[in-house]
Amino acid sequence: MDTKYIFVTGGVVSSLGKGIISASIGKLLQARGYKITIQKFDPYINIDPGTLNPYEHGECYVTVDGMETDLDLGHYERFTGIHTTRNNSVTTGRIYKTVIDRERHGDYLGKTIQVVPHITDEIKRRMLREDEHDEHLDFVITEVGGTIGDIESAPFMEAIRQLRWQLGRDAVCVHLTYVPYLKAAGELKTKPTQHSVKELQGMGIQPDILVLRTERHLDDHVRMKVASFCNVDLECVVQSEDLPSIYEVPVSMQRQGLDAAILRKIGIPVGETPAMGPWHDFLDKQRGAVREVHIGLVGKYDLQDAYKSIRESLNLAGIYNDVKAKLHFINSEEITSRNVTEKLEGLSGVVICPGFGQRGIEGKIVAAEYTRTHDIPTFGICLGMQMMVIEFARNVLGYKDANSREMDSQTPHNVIDIMEEQKNITQIGGTMRLGAYECELLKDSRVYEAYGEVTLIKERHRHRYEFNNAYAKEYEAKGMKCVGVNPAANLVEIVEIPEKRWYIGTQFHPEYSSTVLHPHPLFMSFIKACI
Ligand code: GLN
Repeated sequence: MDTKYIFVTGGVVSSLGKGIISASIGKLLQARGYKITIQKFDPYINIDPGTLNPYEHGECYVTVDGMETDLDLGHYERFTGIHTTRNNSVTTGRIYKTVIDRERHGDYLGKTIQVVPHITDEIKRRMLREDEHDEHLDFVITEVGGTIGDIESAPFMEAIRQLRWQLGRDAVCVHLTYVPYLKAAGELKTKPTQHSVKELQGMGIQPDILVLRTERHLDDHVRMKVASFCNVDLECVVQSEDLPSIYEVPVSMQRQGLDAAILRKIGIPVGETPAMGPWHDFLDKQRGAVREVHIGLVGKYDLQDAYKSIRESLNLAGIYNDVKAKLHFINSEEITSRNVTEKLEGLSGVVICPGFGQRGIEGKIVAAEYTRTHDIPTFGICLGMQMMVIEFARNVLGYKDANSREMDSQTPHNVIDIMEEQKNITQIGGTMRLGAYECELLKDSRVYEAYGEVTLIKERHRHRYEFNNAYAKEYEAKGMKCVGVNPAANLVEIVEIPEKRWYIGTQFHPEYSSTVLHPHPLFMSFIKACI
C-alpha cells in the first residue's frame, strides 16, 4: 500500500487537544496493523522549542536522537509506543533556515526565492518525509500547530492544499473545532465551527472529517447541522467530549468510527474493529485505581504543561500500582527551611523537578534535605538530581558553599560542573547533551533491581552540567553512591542513598520514555516506595 497522509488542523481556539486526537488516530490505525508515524509542524520561528521558556510553550520533549521538540511528541510516543525522530518536529524557523542555507549555497542561482513555491515546497518535502529513511509507513499523520486563520500558518495550509490536490484520495484532512455551550441561552453553538470551516475552505481545503470538542454531549441534530453547513458527511462528524482521562479518547473515537471514516475516505476496506485488549485492560485498571497516593512536585513552573511527561509518568505508574497518583505542585521559590515541614509534611513521595538557572534552586535544596532527613521517597530528575548532590555536599560533606557552576561560576566546591565537551560552546540552541546515552548500572543497587536486573540501559538527556567525579569518593564514603555511569565518558548518571527507602537522582529524564502500555521501571519503583 502506498503511504497515506492525514493532516490534522485546529480552529476556533487553541488548546483543544489536537495532539491527543492525532495520537488517538495513530493508536487506532496501529491497532489495525498499520505502520504509522506522527509529526508536528509548528508555525513559530524558533528552530526548535529548546530555547523557549516553559511558560510560553510547556515542556520541551526530547527524542531518542536528541531533538528538542514540542510536548505533543510526548503524547504521540506515550499513546503509540513509537519512537519519533528529529524529523517529526518541524518549525517555520527550520523550514526557512533550510531554504536560506540553500540559497546561500547557490542552489537556486538566478531565481527569486519566495514563500510560494520555495517555502511551500520545502514544507511539502518534509510533510512527505523525503529526508527520512523510514521503513515503509502506511500512514503519516501531520499535526499543524496553531489555529486556522493565524497569519503564520498560511504557508502550511497552502502546502496541505497542494498536497491534497497532488495525492488525491491518499490524503485526508481532519479539522478539530470547538462547540461552546452558552449557559444563558442554554444552547450549544455551532457558528464558530462553521466559520472555522469557511476559513479553511477559503484557503482551498475542504475538511473530510470534523472532530468537535465539547463540554456537553452533542445530539444528532447538532452533528447534522454541522455536517450540512460544512459539506461533511454525517458519519464524518465526531465529537470529543470532556472525558475523565485523555487515555479514554482513542476508545471514544473508535466507538464513533473515526478510524473507519478515515479508511473509507481513503478507499481502504474497513474490516473488523480491533479489540484493543491491552488498552482496555489499562483503562480498567485506571478506573479501578481509586486509593490516592500524594506526591509533591517541587519545581518553579506553576503550569500543568511544564512537567507534562513527569506528571503522565507518575499517573501511569500509579495506575499500574493500582493507585491514583495525586500530584501537588509546590513552588520551590516559596520553600524555606522555616516552612518546609508545613509544605512537604504528609506527602508519600517527592519529585524534585528539572530546570535551568538560579531561580527556585535554594527551595529545591531545602526540600531535598527535608526528604533525606525524614526518609521520604524522593526522585530527583536532572536539575533535581543535581540539587540532591549539592544538598548532600553542603549538609553531609560539610561544604557549605557547594554549588553547581551553572549557578555560581566561582564556587570552590563545584560538585556539579560543566561537562568538558560543553566548555567551548557559544551557541545556546540545540547544543546541550541531548538524546539517548548508555548507562551502566551497578549490580548492588535499587535501580538495578528496578530495571529488572539489566546492567545496560539507555535514557534521554538534556543538560550541560554533570556530577563532578573528583568528589565521587567522598560521596561514596558518606553514603551517596554513584550507581549508574555512562561507560563511554565516565559520567555519573544516577546517584542513590541505599540506606534510605528510596532516594534516587537521575541525570537523565526517564519521563520521556514512559508509555501507556509500558510504564517506566523507575517510576514504577518510586510509586511502590511511596505506597
Ligand atoms: N540546568 C541543568 C543542566 O544544564 C539541568 C538541566 C535539566 O534539568 N534539564 O545541567
